[in-house]
Amino acid sequence: MSDMILIVEDEPKLARLLSNYLRQEGYDPECLENGLDVLPRVREKMPALILLDLMLPGKSGMEICKEIRSFSMVPIIMVTARIEEIDRLLGLELGADDYICKPFSPREVVARVKAVLRRSAAQQPSEGASALHLDEERFQATLRGHDLELTVVEFQLLSFLFANPKRIYNRNQLMDRIYPDQRIVSDRTIDSHIKNLRKKISGVAPEIELIHSVYGAGYKYDE
Ligand code: CA
Repeated sequence: MSDMILIVEDEPKLARLLSNYLRQEGYDPECLENGLDVLPRVREKMPALILLDLMLPGKSGMEICKEIRSFSMVPIIMVTARIEEIDRLLGLELGADDYICKPFSPREVVARVKAVLRRSAAQQPSEGASALHLDEERFQATLRGHDLELTVVEFQLLSFLFANPKRIYNRNQLMDRIYPDQRIVSDRTIDSHIKNLRKKISGVAPEIELIHSVYGAGYKYDE
């Protein structure tokens, strides 16, 4: 049985184009154009992946994404017509798996669909994003059910990077987050907090790397 891909797109031409490409690749695409129809359909027939346009009649892609995330981790790729929207969407922590900006080539979309499906298939249910829980009130982070025993600063670093996955932050940006009172701290301080943080993570899950250093640029959270 082929994977059902739900295309939520109110431009019929674009929806048809995507649908044709995905079918050629062996998927089973289905199109919806009204935002109000999405949730019932997702509950009824859980798709393998959802391509979700941001601007839709009925209900916005943003709302839909949030609502789906309240009951399902189905991969979602959000589609927006404005590149500057992507940063804002990332900041909102909607829980989408990827973002695509219009205009796009259908081939690019197919490639992203494949990549996201591969990634989600590789994640065992007990691993990946769902395995890390952050309790913002108690500054407590648990990974696969184990308390990471982080200091407040380590927790804040992890929490900030986790909320903005795949985005690279340099030391100054991280310091601004952690030390809003502009205390004078050496930028090596961030390095040592990150080092300790990684040590604690690998103590629980040695085979995964959540915090990556990007040479000459900074750090990012990526599963
Ligand atoms: Ca639209």
